[in-house]
Amino acid sequence: TIGMIAIDADNQIHAGTSTNGARHKIPGRVGDSPIPGAGAYADNEVGAATATGDGDVMMRFLPTLLAVEAMRAGKTPTEAAELGIKRIVKHYKDFSGAVIAVNRLGQYGAACYGMAEFPFVVSSPVKSGPNTRTETVKCL
Ligand code: ASP
Repeated sequence: TIGMIAIDADNQIHAGTSTNGARHKIPGRVGDSPIPGAGAYADNEVGAATATGDGDVMMRFLPTLLAVEAMRAGKTPTEAAELGIKRIVKHYKDFSGAVIAVNRLGQYGAACYGMAEFPFVVSSPVKSGPNTRTETVKCL
């Protein structure tokens, strides 16, 4: 899955996912990616989150909704992403996946489980053009 979160020039917050579901593909499967709250969720008042991993498990816990609601309640994006992952791992110890979260101020964080680390790309506009870099988070 490719998950993206963007804050536009009008401060509208967008989240989207694109997946081939390759590891989990069965005929007729919808997967988590197009399900709001599972693959992605955004709320202009708070921020947004997207997720990657075993979608059939993630659909049961709505980790991106949990992350956005955690930020609404005052958690940092990193804490919010961790909360989304931990809720799943509490029930599925062999889960593998990641959540990224961005608040309406553009602060961001990520959390992952079931692998060593998770790389994600951050891009912020500056006068000279976009400033894009890859960051890595160590998994829980
Ligand atoms: N979440 C995707 C799915 O289950 C897979 C992935 O993130 O790689 O369809």
